[in-house]
Amino acid sequence: MAINGSTSGIAAPARNGSAYPVTDHTFDVVVVGAGGAGLRATVGCSQAGLRTACISKVFPTRSHTVAAQGGVAASLANMGPDNWKWHMYDTVKGSDWLGDQDSIEYLCRNAPAAVYELEHWGVPFSRTEDGRIYQRPFGGMTTEFGKGPPAQRTCAAADRTGHAMLHTLYGQALRYNTEFFIEYFAIDLIMEDGACRGVVCIKLDDGTIHRFRSQLVMLATGGYGRAYFSATSAHTCTGDGNAMLLRAGLPLQDMEFVQFHPTGIYGAGCLITEGARGEGGYLTNSQGERFMERYAPSVKDLAPRDIVSRSMTVEIREGRGVGKGADHIHLHLEHLDPAVLHERLPGISESARIFCGVDVTKEPIPVLPTVHYNMGGIPTNFHGEVVTKKDGDPDRIVPGLMAIGEAACVSVHGANRLGSNSLIDLVVFGRAAGLRAAELVTKGAKQPELAPDSADLALSRLDHFRHAKGGLPTAELRLRMQKVMQNNCAVYRTGATLDEGCRLIREVWDAKDQISVTDRSLIWNSDLIETLEFDNLIVQAVVTMAGAANRTESRGAHAREDYTERDDKNWMKHTLATVDAEAHAVKIDYRPVHSQTMTNEMHSIEPMKRVY
Ligand SMILES: Cc1cc2nc3c(=O)[nH]c(=O)nc-3n(C[C@H](O)[C@H](O)[C@H](O)COP(=O)(O)OP(=O)(O)OC[C@H]3O[C@@H](n4cnc5c(N)ncnc54)[C@H](O)[C@@H]3O)c2cc1C
Repeated sequence: MAINGSTSGIAAPARNGSAYPVTDHTFDVVVVGAGGAGLRATVGCSQAGLRTACISKVFPTRSHTVAAQGGVAASLANMGPDNWKWHMYDTVKGSDWLGDQDSIEYLCRNAPAAVYELEHWGVPFSRTEDGRIYQRPFGGMTTEFGKGPPAQRTCAAADRTGHAMLHTLYGQALRYNTEFFIEYFAIDLIMEDGACRGVVCIKLDDGTIHRFRSQLVMLATGGYGRAYFSATSAHTCTGDGNAMLLRAGLPLQDMEFVQFHPTGIYGAGCLITEGARGEGGYLTNSQGERFMERYAPSVKDLAPRDIVSRSMTVEIREGRGVGKGADHIHLHLEHLDPAVLHERLPGISESARIFCGVDVTKEPIPVLPTVHYNMGGIPTNFHGEVVTKKDGDPDRIVPGLMAIGEAACVSVHGANRLGSNSLIDLVVFGRAAGLRAAELVTKGAKQPELAPDSADLALSRLDHFRHAKGGLPTAELRLRMQKVMQNNCAVYRTGATLDEGCRLIREVWDAKDQISVTDRSLIWNSDLIETLEFDNLIVQAVVTMAGAANRTESRGAHAREDYTERDDKNWMKHTLATVDAEAHAVKIDYRPVHSQTMTNEMHSIEPMKRVY
């Protein structure tokens, strides 16, 4: 039963003849995703009086945002001097000048208000002695435009900041008349004449099909870390929204920029937050040397993630890794006061005990760079509106479609995201998207009927996989994809490994036709859903590899050993990648980086060499 949207039932035959009954829903706005970005946008749309649906394949508070540890960046200046312009400078530099400066200005300027809003809504932040929000130093966050000491800018609720934020946001979302569709899996967008008109979903517990019609669809479906073998992200991080865009013939942006977090637990891949180094932790090699002093003499262990991950990789390659296989690095916390560990880092202390049997008060944690975040995604402007390149216009808005959070590429993180800049991205742009929706959407406006066959493409895809009788289990293909990505699109890349990667990933893509799904039912068919997720992942893997092979320079997280320098003359531009599903081919185009700021209050930051 719909509370404030409208729902009706019809039976629509799927193109391939098998009938799936379809239930229709109409809303002003449909938000797909209930992580930090989706929930913040949902609150905004509901506050504006729009009939809003929020769809999520997992229970909202199980979204990956819940796992975020270290904190959320905002220049509150609670622990020392700070202001949004320094935050902006650090973010532009951190992005290796691939970030759009108008979006970065918007992010940093609005960050403090977004954190205070979270505080007022009830996020239980850690506190200073005098009761203000506690802030810790994080990688690449400095003061005085890089000339001063590290900034204490990352607002934290111990090392469970995402948990605190997500639960608070869900509580807020429940205050309004939002209708939640929980454990509904969005299969595909409904596109008509280049505009988005809605989305087709399957309800996981009974297999019923639901067609949502809306004036606006917001994709807040998160990243696709699970394209890799070792990732800190949840198994649900399959970038479903990104893949829907590719299937709609629209481009994804900058997919070659994949962040490796320096400190995933060796073997398990679970994250140890950068906040551990923010609180005074440091890395050593087999000689007990604090090697980061050589790579980033001024900020050392608090260099940005791309730099620390590369430095660790070099140490291991040159034979200075620790452990039997000399294949990882040590992270030390045992010199810190146990009371500090208990109060500020309880979560990672527990993770270290469970996942590698380490008591952090006594011994170092074995760590390795692990896939953590996708800088690339759905190109948008800073209002959250999806853009594409059309008729020579690089910023052409796709009507009816928005994207926010890790799924989106605004682009504030450019070639490398700074730690704690994602959580703030979720709430600042989640809020921005709600404000834009309030301007674009007419409350309760009558919407044109959808074409009778509008769900056919989604349903024929579902039906195809449900009855797939090839010889290859999805799990096997998925593992092949993950291994190729891990081996051929890693911290360091060369033309040879990437060309081989393109060939190998294409083989996995081609083998998709031989997929086998054994469960034909529609009730909690995890085999089928994981197959749809694999189908989503493989196209993203393909464009990631193609983008990396194509970009012949090193910038941020994209480190080419055959092109070691950043090349602003030829490459200060965003990659746009589309796929031709029939031909199994990737097409690459570009759009310019927005190097100008949004207002005159802050000048744009000219490119320079990125040293720390
Ligand atoms: C372990 C870990 C720790 C981190 N720590 C920090 C940190 O301290 N600070 C920081 O700034 N960043 C951190 N990050 C990054 C940050 O947490 C993520 O980038 C961010 O939470 C992503 O939020 P999101 O709202 O975009 O997506 P998610 O939180 O991933 O949510 C995605 C939502 O989309 C829904 N969804 C997806 N596909 C479908 C579909 N097909 N149908 C229906 N629903 C769908 C899911 O159900 C879910 O609700 C961390 C990341 C990880 C993995």
